[in-house]
Amino acid sequence: MTLRVRLTLLYASLTGGILLTFGVLIFVLVNILMVNQIDDTLTQTAESIIENSRVDPVGRLNIITLPQLALSANVYVQVWDVDGRLHSTSPGISHLDQPLDPAGLQTARPVFRETYIQGAHLRVLSVPLEVGSRPIGVLQTAFNMSVVDSTQHTLLQLLAVITLVSMILAAVASWFGIGQALSPLAAVTETALQISRADDLARRIPYHGPAGDEAGQLINAFNETLERLERLFTSQQRFLADVSHELRTPLTVIKGNVDLMRRMDCMDKESLSGIEEEADRLTRLVGDLLLEAQAESGKLPLQFAPVELDTLLLEVYKEMHVLARKRVQLKVTEIDQVQINGDRDRLKQVLLNLVSNAVKYTPQGGDVYLSLGKMGGNARLIVRDTGPGIPAEDLPHIFERFYRAEKSRSRSKTSGFGLGLSIAYWIVTHHGGKIEVDSQEGKGTTFCIYLPLYDEGRKTNDRSLVTDS
Ligand code: ADP
Repeated sequence: MTLRVRLTLLYASLTGGILLTFGVLIFVLVNILMVNQIDDTLTQTAESIIENSRVDPVGRLNIITLPQLALSANVYVQVWDVDGRLHSTSPGISHLDQPLDPAGLQTARPVFRETYIQGAHLRVLSVPLEVGSRPIGVLQTAFNMSVVDSTQHTLLQLLAVITLVSMILAAVASWFGIGQALSPLAAVTETALQISRADDLARRIPYHGPAGDEAGQLINAFNETLERLERLFTSQQRFLADVSHELRTPLTVIKGNVDLMRRMDCMDKESLSGIEEEADRLTRLVGDLLLEAQAESGKLPLQFAPVELDTLLLEVYKEMHVLARKRVQLKVTEIDQVQINGDRDRLKQVLLNLVSNAVKYTPQGGDVYLSLGKMGGNARLIVRDTGPGIPAEDLPHIFERFYRAEKSRSRSKTSGFGLGLSIAYWIVTHHGGKIEVDSQEGKGTTFCIYLPLYDEGRKTNDRSLVTDS
């Protein structure tokens, strides 16, 4: 059964249930009110008959006289003496010689009962008549219930029709209302099917209703997920193509050099260094991939301990200085004594990645500036270069896995795989810090890292942690 049918049935039965409950309540209430009114009429009639009756001095009933009462057509009266003889009767039932309520003749106190006499439904009040404490007869007043019965019948029919019509109306309104509300879901299903059939992640679900409602939110979330999936899929495809290319090239170079040496039958220095270079590149790629996979699966262990960031920065400076000296000027502009709590090796990896990127992408004659200071409760590390900058369209993506700006995709000895910054981002955020980038094309790029300063109270962090990705 579809959701639409289920909801329609639910609303229709709810409406029916509510109306039925109210109907029963109204029916019972009307019934009680009418019976109360009839009982009042019967009591008043009996009282006025008793008030207007006379008993002879001997106390015999046979001289009781039925007063001239304006009895309504529906009210009947009978007076029975103690010997069970009918003493008086109202004009409408003068032909009736049986009691209106046979059981009521024996009563010692006033009692209401419903009886059926000659097919007529009656409500009868039987009142014992006494002189002193001696019973002299029974007075019975009765009301013909046919009017009440037909009123009840009409009311029942009316309530049943109202309930039925309301249920049908509720079902029709729900069917169309729910159909309209659920129609965006059908679009979601249709698009999802189209995507899986055509393998086309570029499709989006159109929605013309208000964006803030539930359907709008669902479609928005679905479209955002599609966008993310598409980006991820594209970057993975690009990455696969890049990696296969990256793997094939060094392997071809290595194989070529080995073949050459075999043919020459000697160890050629140039071929050997070519092999070494390519092997290094392969090692870097495999290392980056392994690290990325560990970070992804949350299995990259971080060994937290107090780290002197200034010492670490100088260490990185010394290592990179050798690499940069010939092409760019690497300078430390400001350095403060800063201690943080973190994994020294991973933090060094972040710094090496940022500085090597700056050196790598800055053309000959450019500058790379490093600085370390404190800001608020954080250490602030800045790596700034005067290189080509990162195009604005690439900037929001550079921390994504496998992302490389268009210009950097050509292969060179030093070119990377677009993994360095995503690993750096993962490491910094898992230290409770943040990494920001600011870049202007043609002017240069600035990376800024903020890390919480070392806090004596948080020594519990001095242990090995396996963090979630
Ligand atoms: P890669 O190993 O390709 O350098 P990264 O993740 O370290 O990968 O960097 C991602 C991309 O960001 C690079 O391909 C490059 O396009 C861009 N990039 C990073 N640092 C800089 C920089 N200092 N100047 C210009 N572009 C940069």
